[in-house]
Amino acid sequence: MPYPESALIPQRLLRPSWAEIDLDAIRRNVAVARNCVGPDRKIYFVCKGDGFGFGADTVAGLALAAGVDGICVGSPEEALKIRQSGVTAEILLFASTLPQEVAAVLDLGVTMTIQSIEMLDALVALQRPLDAFVEIDSGFGRFGLAPRQWNGAFERLRRQSLIRLRGVYSHLSSPEDPEVTAQQSATFESAVQDAARHGLRDLEQILASSRVMILHPGLHYTGVDPGRFIYGALDRKLMQQARLDPLLAAVRGRIVHIQRHPAGAVLGLGYGAPMRLKKELRLAIVPIGFWDGLNHVPPLGRVIVHGCFAPAIGRRSFQHTAVDVTDVPQAAIGSVVTLMGLDGDLEIAPDELASTMQLPLMEVIPRLARSLPHVPFQRPQSLSLTEENPQ
Ligand SMILES: *Cc1c(COP(=O)(O)O)cnc(C)c1O
Repeated sequence: MPYPESALIPQRLLRPSWAEIDLDAIRRNVAVARNCVGPDRKIYFVCKGDGFGFGADTVAGLALAAGVDGICVGSPEEALKIRQSGVTAEILLFASTLPQEVAAVLDLGVTMTIQSIEMLDALVALQRPLDAFVEIDSGFGRFGLAPRQWNGAFERLRRQSLIRLRGVYSHLSSPEDPEVTAQQSATFESAVQDAARHGLRDLEQILASSRVMILHPGLHYTGVDPGRFIYGALDRKLMQQARLDPLLAAVRGRIVHIQRHPAGAVLGLGYGAPMRLKKELRLAIVPIGFWDGLNHVPPLGRVIVHGCFAPAIGRRSFQHTAVDVTDVPQAAIGSVVTLMGLDGDLEIAPDELASTMQLPLMEVIPRLARSLPHVPFQRPQSLSLTEENPQ
């Protein structure tokens, strides 16, 4: 099975911390997406950020096999990686490059985004056949043609033949806010109608990213461009509403060191202010820190070890997390520690980890996925057992 390169580095796993990846979740989530939008709409799967840290080529290949129609990327090297893995499907490059570099970018075999008049000028000047989408700014305010710009652009595009306009797309800023969404989607709708008025026909019309797909079925247009939906990386409520499975199933490590510190000892764990122990502390160290995608501050909350919750204490350091196992006498060198995911009957949900880290889930998941080595998701029954203590 194709796992991202990090799984092929056994030396990394000699420092025992890892992400458990349920690659089959892609197939299941694509089936949910297909069911959600119906057989005739296009699904463009967003593989930006190296496929949210899971490996753009791996996830693109699996999603295409499961029935998505196209891929979106956020940078040229993602397009290159996906093309080199043999993918021939359309790859739409989101705005990310300089107008003067369009020739080199097009050599990668991508569909360009026209997000500005400058980009349109550069593509017209190139005098070479190419595919492109026009991006509309419906209120996000980052990229895209504004209402005063798009009619002129549509007219120029209609009057030339080298640039094949494949469609128009836009990205909504606040799918959870009905008022903002009504306003922004009305702006997109007027761009769609203006394109038709200029005689640009058979265009793909794409507005719905993950949350829009779930919350606004009326905005599915001719295609959708989900990212987090397919990775199963949405907040718990939406995950349950849409019945999605997480690709990042668990984050775990093993205890590499245990030390007893007597009452009265003063510890400066994780570069924090030294704390004086009121009672004896049995401290376990797991080799996972902020370099691995966790945070330095605030404190991490809790982990699961041997079927018990145990508090993580102090701050994370660069490559380590400290856990108070005073009340978990079975904890030993080699014990598996779960920082996210299921372990027996207990769970640390992705939302819990994100809220302890005080970061949005959409930031936490790619951080962990891109930083940790990937191993196949293991059913969690026997996790807490060490080799020394098999029953
Ligand atoms: C990131 C992004 C998406 C996908 O967003 P999700 O919320 O992950 O579905 C779609 N379109 C654009 C332009 C984006 O930048």
